[in-house]
Amino acid sequence: MRIFAETRRDFLLMGVAAAAAAPMWLMPSRARAATPLMLPPLPYAENALDPVISANTVGFHYGKHHRAYFDNLNKLLANTPLAEQSLEQIVRATAGQSDKSAIFNNAAQAWNHTFYWNSLRASGGGKPGQELGERIDKDFGSFDAMRKELITAATTLFGSGWAWLVLADGKLKVVKTGNADNPMTQGMKPLLTIDVWEHAYYLDYQNRRADYVNAVLDKLVNWEFAASNLAA
Ligand code: MN
Repeated sequence: MRIFAETRRDFLLMGVAAAAAAPMWLMPSRARAATPLMLPPLPYAENALDPVISANTVGFHYGKHHRAYFDNLNKLLANTPLAEQSLEQIVRATAGQSDKSAIFNNAAQAWNHTFYWNSLRASGGGKPGQELGERIDKDFGSFDAMRKELITAATTLFGSGWAWLVLADGKLKVVKTGNADNPMTQGMKPLLTIDVWEHAYYLDYQNRRADYVNAVLDKLVNWEFAASNLAA
């Protein structure tokens, strides 16, 4: 690998390498130069979640939907002061502002999907480690009670949106958000999310959202990611 960026393209490629080493997108308040926001690489191969979530679904979901949010966002940000902000700063700065809803929707969806891919892993599921497990027992009564709340949130959300495990006022909590909304705009800290937009499951499960949510919780959910967010 070259040490110095000789061209703008080299600079962007080096940015990708750096992003792979450290989750830059998670950093809360780092101002950045007004280069385009980059779609982060998937943390695994497109077929890694198969058969629970097929390579076909991931191909469309990551390669088309997630990419489109970044593409749209970069177009909307061009030549605006927000173009120098981090993705998280853009989400926070535009939340609840009706004249900035297009930027908010694309920025939040760009953030939410990166968080979603990291909330899953091949051979996931099972139970969280000791520290997170004890917090869940304390705040929900039991792992099963938390799991039930997450399934209820995911299956009762009307239309498109997200189910989340969050830290809110020092307590673990399950919340659901519609469309692009993210609980961090209401002062909560996201720990884990499940995408319940139809594009997340329709190719594999058609209208059976509950089957998708149960399969994700049993086989894909990445409790280490949730624990690392709680610790951060
Ligand atoms: Mn989605």
